[in-house]
Formats: sequence, structure tokens, C-alpha cells
Amino acid sequence: MDTTTRDPADVMEAVGFRGIRLAAIGDDGDVLVAFGHHDPDVVAAAMTELGQAVLGWTLPVEADEVDQRWGHIMTSCETCDSKPDCRECAIIRSHDGGWMAYDDETDGPGRFPIMVVDVS
Ligand SMILES: [Zn+2]
Repeated sequence: MDTTTRDPADVMEAVGFRGIRLAAIGDDGDVLVAFGHHDPDVVAAAMTELGQAVLGWTLPVEADEVDQRWGHIMTSCETCDSKPDCRECAIIRSHDGGWMAYDDETDGPGRFPIMVVDVS
């Protein structure tokens, strides 16, 4: 599947808070991603609103907890060369649009700017 023409915020079903598009990822919704690089104070406020309104978080997100990263969309795992019998590849492929890796520390081909908070 070619995901290069799709907006990652649409793939991840982002919602808007304070003009910033956010998506909850991870099995328990304990990782929030903001699409784009923004003022950390605004991102923290938007993440606090989403976390408390939708995810049941009780504590606010602080600006210094928000990491500036780059994401990329994965349609197979990146360690097995897409072996046909790879269980991890099958799980990733089962998600429409693929999975988003959210911890790249540098920009590169296919990467897009994000900001991340992990409260797990
Ligand atoms: Zn694999």
C-alpha cells in the first residue's frame, strides 16, 4: 500500500484541540502525538484537554514532557525484510494505513514532524 500521498494525521484519525491535530496511539492510548512542530506550551495544553476529556487522564501534560520527534508510517516491521510468515509484519499490515513509528530523533525520507508525550 502506498501511504506516501496520505496525510498521516488522517491515517491516525487525528482530532483537533486548540488548532493542533492530535492522535492517541499505543494499545492503551498512553501516547499522544501532535502532528507538526508547535509551541510546546500550546501542545501541552491541547494534549491535556484531549487526555482529560477523552482518555481519563487526571494530570496535566507539562511542556517539558513533550518531545519533538519525527514519525514515519510503517507497513511492515523493519527488522525481518518483510518475511511472509512474520507475525509482527502481519499485525502491522492488519492496520489500515499502517503503523506510525513515533520516535525518530532526526528528519529523513518519508518522515514528518510530530511532538510526543508518553504517560505510560
Ligand atoms: Zn516482519
